[in-house]
Amino acid sequence: MKVFVTGGAGYIGSVTSELLLDAGHEVVVFDNLERGHRAAIDSRAQFVQGDLRDRNCVINAMTDARPDAVMHFAAYALVPESMAKPEIYFGNNVVGCVNLTDGMLAAGVAKIVFSSTCATYGQPDRVPITEQEKQLPANPYGESKLICEKILDWHKKLRGLKPVCLRYFNACGATEKFGEDHDPETHIIPIVLQVALGKRRSVKMFGDDYDTHDGTCVRDYIHIVDLAQAHILALTGEFEGAFNLGNGKGNSVLEVIETAREVTGHPIPAEKVGRRPGDPAILVAAADKARDVLKWRPKFPDLKSIIESAWNWHRAHPEGYA
Ligand code: UDP
Repeated sequence: MKVFVTGGAGYIGSVTSELLLDAGHEVVVFDNLERGHRAAIDSRAQFVQGDLRDRNCVINAMTDARPDAVMHFAAYALVPESMAKPEIYFGNNVVGCVNLTDGMLAAGVAKIVFSSTCATYGQPDRVPITEQEKQLPANPYGESKLICEKILDWHKKLRGLKPVCLRYFNACGATEKFGEDHDPETHIIPIVLQVALGKRRSVKMFGDDYDTHDGTCVRDYIHIVDLAQAHILALTGEFEGAFNLGNGKGNSVLEVIETAREVTGHPIPAEKVGRRPGDPAILVAAADKARDVLKWRPKFPDLKSIIESAWNWHRAHPEGYA
């Protein structure tokens, strides 16, 4: 299939493009390179530099490419930034989705695999979280993604789009070629690895008074290759609706730091600081639907192999893509 990949120069988009190309698909990357990296675009992909906020640009790119399907990764994706600057999250993520769907309608493209998030659930009533959990986001990032899910759902009902929304838990890990490089970096795994590389003195642990087994927040860390595989499954079958993507296992911030110490052999000093606004205590997926319906089988479910793959990439790219 020919797939139009928005955000193909970003973390999850680059790895999914790589796996799509490995599987014999054709990829058109659409990215503004504001937060993505030219070097993260697979050399086998066609590249269109453009911004989703520019409606004409999106429509032209889509009608030129005439893809069979869209994978939509391009978005701002930092919870703390969204608490400080909500307007840019609605201005980019929501407007981008509106323009993208306009482009799809103009070009007659129906299938879209959308990069959604567990942040759409906010503080869940029940853990592990199923797709039936109420969606009450605790931050504007999650809200912006929920609005996009709703836009896609209305286009499904009224315009014949075929959306699949994949709600990721915490994406991490790397392939040999592509890994995680954000500036500024806010995610826990690249931050602890930067400490191990001597690029930071310590990692701050945001809150140790949560109602969890060791007081630090619990997240469901899922390997980027497993996420990418779920996209390919969602693309190639007749699926619809929303799917959680996680391992169903929770790891605390403290456990992430301890595993990274084991993998890197570095002491990784950690300091306890206050809670980070917008952080729910526990986010763990019930991903049975993805297993049963998509037949998704994560290959790297344990935290150690995830951190090892990220460590290998960070050691090979100590300056990221720079
Ligand atoms: N976290 C932390 N120190 C950091 C970065 C993150 O303690 O320097 C915590 C954060 O509060 C959350 C967990 O690590 O509980 C995962 O955060 P991350 O930003 O990696 O992903 P998120 O869950 O926000 O998508």
